[in-house]
Amino acid sequence: MTCAFAPLRLQIKEICRREGRDPFSVRLTAVSKNQPDEAIETALESGLKVFGENRVQEAESHWIARRAAFPDLELHLIGGLQTNKAKQAVALFDVIETVDRPELVDALVKECQKQAKFPRFFVQVNIGEEPQKSGVAIDDLSALLAYALERGMTIEGLMCIPPEDEPSGLYFALLRKLALRHHLRHLSMGMSRDFRQAIALDATYIRIGTALFGARDFL
Ligand SMILES: *Cc1c(COP(=O)(O)O)cnc(C)c1O
Repeated sequence: MTCAFAPLRLQIKEICRREGRDPFSVRLTAVSKNQPDEAIETALESGLKVFGENRVQEAESHWIARRAAFPDLELHLIGGLQTNKAKQAVALFDVIETVDRPELVDALVKECQKQAKFPRFFVQVNIGEEPQKSGVAIDDLSALLAYALERGMTIEGLMCIPPEDEPSGLYFALLRKLALRHHLRHLSMGMSRDFRQAIALDATYIRIGTALFGARDFL
């Protein structure tokens, strides 16, 4: 079992040099969904610290026990969240990237208070306005950010997954514009196929699965 962290890190550094960016300003989120235990162990041994999961239950089985051995991990939820899983999500994750509706803000704020635990939050934007994808509609973003703010939730950034069958650059540029307009610091964008463009357009977190671990067994 191998993990391509070293070559990928070099590649990221080289892209940053070309784009005039500080390599420390781009963080690599290793997407460990659907990966076997040995892939996760190898990734940890290679020094990766930031991991992304798209399902709460799988994330619990991957990370609850490992967390004790690796206290400096940063776990990100990168998949859609149902309100009835808010409790587990607040308990486990350090960053929840997929806030996308007022009811979810309410459920998360309630759990944060109950558990006295405060993860960081990003809003997921449905950047390609695709009906099957989660994320807030672009036109509803301002209202959702205001809603979160009123309830005491600090939103630090935006996250998106562009349409699969189109080049991502225009969507990344749009997400960057939205983040600038709302004074949000973080941009979670770019996956194995398009992280180069994402770095060129100021991503602060890129989310990489396949390019690190190889193909997943299933999606
Ligand atoms: C699976 C997934 C990724 C990683 O995709 P790769 O193409 O394997 O790099 C990134 N972001 C999200 C939201 C995902 O669900």
